[in-house]
Amino acid sequence: METAEIRRRFLNHFEQRGHLVVPSASLIAEDPTLLLVNAGMVPFKPYFLGDLTPPAPRATSVQKCVRTVDIDNVGQTARHASFFQMCGNFSFGDYFKAEVIPWAFELLTEGYGFKPDDLWATVYLDDDEAEEIWKGLLPAERIQRRGKEDNYWSMGVPGPCGPCSEIYFDRGPAYGRDGGPEADENRYLEVWNLVFMQFERGEGAGYEFPILGDLPAKSIDTGMGLERMATLLQGVENLYEIDISRPVLDRAGELTGKTYGAQHGDDVRLRVIADHTRTAAMLIADGVVPSNEGRGYVLRRMLRRAVRNVRLLGGREPVMENLFGVVQSAMGPIYPELVDRAAAITAVAVGEELAFLETLRTGTTIFDVAVGKAKSTGAAQLAGEEAFQLHDTYGFPIDLTLEMAAEQGLTVDEPGFRRLMDRQRELAKADRASRRIGNVDLSVFRPILARSGPTSFTGYTELTRTAT
Ligand code: ATP
Ligand code: MG
Ligand code: MG
Ligand code: MG
Repeated sequence: METAEIRRRFLNHFEQRGHLVVPSASLIAEDPTLLLVNAGMVPFKPYFLGDLTPPAPRATSVQKCVRTVDIDNVGQTARHASFFQMCGNFSFGDYFKAEVIPWAFELLTEGYGFKPDDLWATVYLDDDEAEEIWKGLLPAERIQRRGKEDNYWSMGVPGPCGPCSEIYFDRGPAYGRDGGPEADENRYLEVWNLVFMQFERGEGAGYEFPILGDLPAKSIDTGMGLERMATLLQGVENLYEIDISRPVLDRAGELTGKTYGAQHGDDVRLRVIADHTRTAAMLIADGVVPSNEGRGYVLRRMLRRAVRNVRLLGGREPVMENLFGVVQSAMGPIYPELVDRAAAITAVAVGEELAFLETLRTGTTIFDVAVGKAKSTGAAQLAGEEAFQLHDTYGFPIDLTLEMAAEQGLTVDEPGFRRLMDRQRELAKADRASRRIGNVDLSVFRPILARSGPTSFTGYTELTRTAT
């Protein structure tokens, strides 16, 4: 089943049950506490908090999400992408557990054709109500109780909180141990999280907060991973291999001279390239530009990691223009913004790629000299001084130095590097402080400048003339 069809069936299912279909919001969160939208409920927060009146008591959406916390899992696990789409249905003080659990079950079994025997559910430790509802749908041995880490949700202080119930698909013994999601989250793939906003919470760190009472109106927030569903319904191994990202994976292979599926280490890198390229395209389409902070830094990191991985696979030529073309045709049917401004979006990525390749080019020469020196003296380590120079003078990120050194069988004196970084920060601080003390008021010169205009230095031409 194509991703587009999975998406259509989700929205239909909930539209038929009285939900207003709401388009995805931009990845740039309106919420000032959040860099990027990381869940389907984010655009609806003001309705859950009671700050705004919702346009309808029930809504459904497929929201673009970016999760930088999952970046280290990208390429490694079958289920984590840095950009993904969360299908959600929401009740703003309207329906609750008795409706949402059977609706989710119906969609999975009747709508998508999952066998009930493959499904597991988890509920929070003391949530007897949710467990009772599940018992009408699944045998008791496939319902597990889990603690706060996995099955509790809260937002703001004071704010709503409540238990969750998650739905898992058993991929079978080839994927890991028996024993349900509590035992193995690779074998049991989490596909859907149902959040029951039920109580008001008080002050407290982590999960150590008191429950102040019931919310006047109970609400529902759910999130079903579109790409995870596609992985299962398309019978592929992981979410990078589904219809909307496989073409990027294959093109990354062509561009680096690798065949996807031939070698595990290469496959991980190809998945990282495909994932990060897509995330970058989606971020740029929503107006993010590369920079050294905030969202711009997330984008910069995505592009640089993609370029680095291309390089580590042996690619030497720029690839972004080519890869962006594939992302745009794979994702364009759902996100026309990618296609409407295709040239401008690609130009941002290409600019960043060329600048980074230049950094890599100069830095790599210096790096090779340092490696040669270390090897000729029999040292197993690059000096902190060298890593620092690469960073300070050539803009070489330390993680890149570490990775490249490891490939040469060398370590890096990281503590030494950190000490030099600290010293540089101290010096810069002292320098700023001394400049403040010695600050001279230059404003007296302004009238002179206004009268005579700027002075231009003619020494070069004058001297040349005298000399000839
Ligand atoms: P996991 O435990 O697998 O990391 P999660 O519990 O962090 O997932 P939720 O925060 O409950 O995920 O998000 C709701 C749903 O969104 C998940 O059930 C899953 O289907 C999907 N999802 C979450 N993170 C990702 C991701 N990085 N890539 C793709 N889908 C995701
Ligand atoms: Mg997670
Ligand atoms: Mg989870
Ligand atoms: Mg979850």
